[in-house]
Amino acid sequence: MARPDIGPLERSAVLEVLETSVLSIGPRVVAFEEAVAAEAGTAHGVAVNSGTAGLHVALLAAGIGPGDEVVTTPFSFIASANSILYTGARPVFVDIDEQTYNIDPSAVASAVTSDTRALLPVHAFGQPADMDPLMELATDREFVVVEDACEAIGARYKGRPAGSLGHAGVFAFYPNKQLTTGEGGMVVTDRPEWASVMRSLRNQGREVGDLWLQHTRLGYNYRLDEMSAALGQVQMTRLDELLSTRAQVADRYTGLLADVDGVSPPAIDAATTRMSWFVYVVRLDEGVDRNAVMQALEDEGIPSRPYFSCIHLQPIYRELGYGPGDFPHAEAAGEACVALPFYGRMPADETELVVDALASAVRAQVAAGA
Ligand SMILES: *Cc1c(COP(=O)(O)O)cnc(C)c1O
Repeated sequence: MARPDIGPLERSAVLEVLETSVLSIGPRVVAFEEAVAAEAGTAHGVAVNSGTAGLHVALLAAGIGPGDEVVTTPFSFIASANSILYTGARPVFVDIDEQTYNIDPSAVASAVTSDTRALLPVHAFGQPADMDPLMELATDREFVVVEDACEAIGARYKGRPAGSLGHAGVFAFYPNKQLTTGEGGMVVTDRPEWASVMRSLRNQGREVGDLWLQHTRLGYNYRLDEMSAALGQVQMTRLDELLSTRAQVADRYTGLLADVDGVSPPAIDAATTRMSWFVYVVRLDEGVDRNAVMQALEDEGIPSRPYFSCIHLQPIYRELGYGPGDFPHAEAAGEACVALPFYGRMPADETELVVDALASAVRAQVAAGA
């Protein structure tokens, strides 16, 4: 489905770390933080060992806890909502925009209550959420915004970098992401107090400069190691290349799909001035049996995945009182969307093979239904 793009520079950077005796809390983490913060145009970057950990410490730094409500989208990877549950706050889901699959600002407006302390929008598949109306609402109704930019490093909204649009933004570097450190994540923010609380939280609650075993608050071990940071530092120098090779593959898919009935390519909003392609997700027309299409692809040796599976329909979220029918746009997308194999250096003949197989699978479906 995906593969990382690791070159000789990454290999030698990681090996160089192994020649030293500093494998954690060292200079590579600092350099990687500076590189990511510079890309996002923020004052601070705080490296952690996963995107999930980044979302958790960002919400904690924002003071989110029991009794608070955090508005978010049900159409995401489960970590975005889980991070809210970790803090003891309540995730409040709202529906998405049908075109972009991102949180719908008008739905957010109607979900805000006196307990709303934060909004956690997700830039789904690498396309920024419609942040201007969301930030306006945040100012009016006095809540903070933590962007889940885990799928969107390098993306631009009206020319501004994803991650810098809210009060904090979180990136993730798992191997299927555009840029990888193996495991890893990063929070970017302009707020110095939040940055310093997050540095403490990732390191067992020690204040920066604390004595070895002084713990000011309940912290975690969310530290990123030096090998991962060295890998990330090199990948950051290649960010434009990593994103443009992915964009070329996405464009090729979109071009080929223009001739295929029953399948819609991703819709890119005018506000998305740079898409950061994380996955390539198509939508099947209503009435096309997605499972049958995925099975037909599988029979040709082509993997595909349903993307996403709505969070509010997962067993643990149903316990909070959510269920089918709550968010029609998210649920419809959850039933009709399929991620195709996608990575930066995917050869042209592979994309052609995938689209040919998809076209005949959908044709067979339409014929069977007719
Ligand atoms: C990948 C991802 C995360 C979590 O990142 P990890 O590094 O796997 O913890 C969170 N939110 C979204 C939307 C993601 O795609």
